[in-house]
Amino acid sequence: MSVRSYVRYRYCHQCQQVKPPRTHHCSICDACVRRMDHHCPWMGNCIGILNHKYFWDFLLWAFLGTLQVTIAILAHKGFLGLGTDTTLMVACVMSFAFSVSIGALFAVHSYLIAFNMSTLESVALNDQNPFRIRDGNWRTRVIANVEMNFGRDPWWRWLLPLEPKMRLYDGTEVMLEVDGASGSTMGSDHSADEAV
Ligand SMILES: [Zn+2]
Ligand SMILES: [Zn+2]
Repeated sequence: MSVRSYVRYRYCHQCQQVKPPRTHHCSICDACVRRMDHHCPWMGNCIGILNHKYFWDFLLWAFLGTLQVTIAILAHKGFLGLGTDTTLMVACVMSFAFSVSIGALFAVHSYLIAFNMSTLESVALNDQNPFRIRDGNWRTRVIANVEMNFGRDPWWRWLLPLEPKMRLYDGTEVMLEVDGASGSTMGSDHSADEAV
């Protein structure tokens, strides 16, 4: 599929309704999901624009939690001391394995959010992604792209499982940078007003 095909409104034959750009039909949930990221079997539902922040927060705190358990056990017993306590050794290995795998997933999703991409789009579009905001220096770019996913809230609210006070994008419209027209919107232009 070309980039153009990703920025069009399309029709979902299963739901029998028009779906905005970035929306995909999940066959497991049997529903259209706005700015779908992926269907998560661990969560038991889809990750889309409305809960991607909560998913990222879950990864962040699960990573820090499992890392903290690993460090606490090692600090308590020492690396060599683990051999004398099977329970703690299993707990240490398990928490270390989870911290590595969840940490890797956290890094991937941090990258995706910083570049305003979903997992599905990263596979199909990668650096051709037309939804990514490219204006300004790298810092303002990253903040602008994160705000599209997490809302224009203070940074500390991004780290906590709190609903964004000022969501800029809910998946019904799409910010585009196509043919150099950065910041233009497709459809009506009230996404920021709506969120106030
Ligand atoms: Zn559908
Ligand atoms: Zn799903």
